[in-house]
Amino acid sequence: MATGWAPDGAEQAQIDASLEDALAQVRTRLPQGESALYCDECGEEIPEARRLAVPGVRLCIECQQKKDQQQQFATGYNRRGSKDSQLR
Ligand SMILES: [Zn+2]
Repeated sequence: MATGWAPDGAEQAQIDASLEDALAQVRTRLPQGESALYCDECGEEIPEARRLAVPGVRLCIECQQKKDQQQQFATGYNRRGSKDSQLR
């Protein structure tokens, strides 16, 4: 029974690490300084309404949506991965 605990500890460390990754991602998305006039990704002009509505915005709406989708996908993938290892 004692041998069963070592892998559990390793899994917990992995979960902590992905939590910290998620927090780091959230931190990089927090508003920082002035809003950008042009999208960091594609260089399109960001509408003034969006710059006022989202302080510190760096991306146009299209690029922000793409980024959000990628992050949702990455988060779902991580969650499924840790669930599989718990079942095992
Ligand atoms: Zn863009």
